Amino acid sequence: MNNDIYNYSLEELKLILNNNHIEEYRANQIFRAIHKNLLTNFDKISNIPKSLRKFLNEQFFIPKINLIDVKKSTINKTKKFLFELSQNKIPVETVLMEEKGRITICVSVQSGCNVGCIFCATGYFGFKKNLSTSEILLQIYEIIKMENVKPTNIVYMGMGEPFLNYNNFLKSIKILCSKEGLGINSDKITVSTIGLKGTIKKFADDISLNENREIRKIKLALSLHSTDNGIREKLIPASKKNKLAEIYKELIYFYRKTKTKITYEYIYLKNINDKTEDIKRITKLSKMIPSNINVIRYHPTKQNNILVLKSKETENDLYDFISKLRTAKVTVNLRKSNGLDINAACGQLAAENYKQNKI
Ligand code: SF4
Repeated sequence: MNNDIYNYSLEELKLILNNNHIEEYRANQIFRAIHKNLLTNFDKISNIPKSLRKFLNEQFFIPKINLIDVKKSTINKTKKFLFELSQNKIPVETVLMEEKGRITICVSVQSGCNVGCIFCATGYFGFKKNLSTSEILLQIYEIIKMENVKPTNIVYMGMGEPFLNYNNFLKSIKILCSKEGLGINSDKITVSTIGLKGTIKKFADDISLNENREIRKIKLALSLHSTDNGIREKLIPASKKNKLAEIYKELIYFYRKTKTKITYEYIYLKNINDKTEDIKRITKLSKMIPSNINVIRYHPTKQNNILVLKSKETENDLYDFISKLRTAKVTVNLRKSNGLDINAACGQLAAENYKQNKI
């Protein structure tokens, strides 16, 4: 038996040690060595006995991820990493953004995605695989080691829909927030979802459990993009299965349970989701529970340019829309298009250099 140790939570590791008559506290030492100090060799864990190092080598392995390519933006401090999952030769992309002391890693939970949002290159890339907990963590650990950075924020907004890989994404957050791991505060982690039926409610319940108190303050972002069911279903085909009224009920539940305000993500699309009625509905929605709306520019690539002809917005149109929302007292931010020149901005991840750069 030789298992990927990154797939085990601290509690699971304790249980295994217990079953093998090894003191539980050793699990904390091992966890600290591999998740905090990011050691990649059991033999380098100097504070555990040789017999335990032998046990670890027999039972587990510390996984690797292959770096295929790095692209660096010339506009802002953004880098895009193309990795290959070493076990199954599948690509995944991760983004590092640095701005005013804030170091954010945008991590992927799937290789590709089958939600099919028409504005998103990942949707056109198609679904390849759900990432394991280990494969999610590896993206972050590898960037920390390569770039010598300490992330202040983690956003689950890379490739894939987190709630379609629920257990693995949740476990990865628990490990990231663990005091024996990187110890990231859960309010520095944001999870973005389209709002699949029942998942927001379940998420609220799960992070409210006593055993999950370290991850209780995770922020939730809903990919809204339209407050009209018909238009939203055209933009996000998978949203047909859950109407907005149901999602709103789950968001209210989430807020009541966690007391954490919601972020709505809204790609501005001229003549599609910027009408007077849209502004009225967004205004009403913003009063439902504490929230803010992040307006995002549409970032066409050669894969997701289907909307280009329909939505030729200018910066003036965009600022006009934001100004109307602000006049209606909606809390609104304009998200920066970090890494636009390297296809690292929102909706642009498609592992396009995978085949060319594959060694
Ligand atoms: S926006 Fe998110 S959910 Fe939609 S296709 Fe892209 S990765 Fe999937």
